[in-house]
Amino acid sequence: MRFEDVIGQDQVKARLRHGVAVGRIPHAQLMLGPEGSGGLPLALAYIQFVMCPNRTELDSCGECSTCRKLSSFTHPDVHYTFPFPKKLGEMEVCSDVYPQWREALKDDVYMSYGDWMQQLNAENKQGNIPTKELRNIIKNLSLKAYEGNMKVSLVWLPEYLGQQGNILLKILEEPPAGTLFLLVGSDVDDILSTIVSRTQLVRMAPIEDAALSEALVVRDDIAEADAQRLAKVAQGNYHLARELGKEATNPHLDAWRQWMTIVFKRKMGDAFAWSDDLSSLGREGVKLFLLYGIQVLRTCAVVPYSGSDGLWEGPEQDFVNKFNTLQLGYEVIGKMVKVLEDAMYGIERNGNPKIILMDASYGLVKSIVKKN
Ligand SMILES: [Zn+2]
Repeated sequence: MRFEDVIGQDQVKARLRHGVAVGRIPHAQLMLGPEGSGGLPLALAYIQFVMCPNRTELDSCGECSTCRKLSSFTHPDVHYTFPFPKKLGEMEVCSDVYPQWREALKDDVYMSYGDWMQQLNAENKQGNIPTKELRNIIKNLSLKAYEGNMKVSLVWLPEYLGQQGNILLKILEEPPAGTLFLLVGSDVDDILSTIVSRTQLVRMAPIEDAALSEALVVRDDIAEADAQRLAKVAQGNYHLARELGKEATNPHLDAWRQWMTIVFKRKMGDAFAWSDDLSSLGREGVKLFLLYGIQVLRTCAVVPYSGSDGLWEGPEQDFVNKFNTLQLGYEVIGKMVKVLEDAMYGIERNGNPKIILMDASYGLVKSIVKKN
């Protein structure tokens, strides 16, 4: 993985390159970006940039034996840690799951947590980073490097480190020489604060529209006009943009309209059938739907201030325009977004989608009730 293969994120790339150029590579870094912004690809490209003996000012060479091993995720000095379900055959630590991990990354380095669990056929199980794995991280970082002079530990989604994550504090504070500890997450509130405070934060923004739409054209073979529309709808989330792009028409808009009708007309009797219907999308599908809803609401919130010109076209824009005649105001829309975010959190934590969607329906009704 080279910086060149990471979509957008030019500012962060520039900062990371500069750090390496002046020899400032903090031992422990937390890369934090919203879902779909490419935290994992960026971390992989950064590791390759740091380790490649032939790097230029801009990027790793992509051809040397170090780069080749890193690109196939087989470099002996890089240890990968990620959540996986507790009861997954005989698997106890992450290295037991490396074959699936490599397969998944080769297939799609922009995978989401949901994609990963699907890859493991464990969509309905709870991901976890076991204590035994944490001891492996420490052991691995304490060993001498096999090749070159650097040991790297990459933890994808430190959100899944429970209290046992505190085992890592000492090594984060006093890392052995020549080690790089990278954590890649998206929600700082879900990461142990003791860990966050011991890392250098690298914040990523959502992917810029232009870079996102170019990626959709080049990587996913989506027509330019569609790509531009999708990039706006997805607001910097490559994962969401690509999923929406798979369908000829946006699969979420109809369901979204139905939901808003139920909520605003308080037809709670219909909410049950609607929740039932939507749950058939599966956990990942429901999550994408909620993400989509959040983006729509956010757009609705900014349109009164910035206007809708060039924001969206077509049916979504019609929805936004109609929605804004309700004049709900920033605060109410904020509450609605919070309801959707909580629902997403519940889905990620393996709640029952049907129940969560019902709860969210009531939550939305409550958030739009006018207090006089
Ligand atoms: Zn190289």
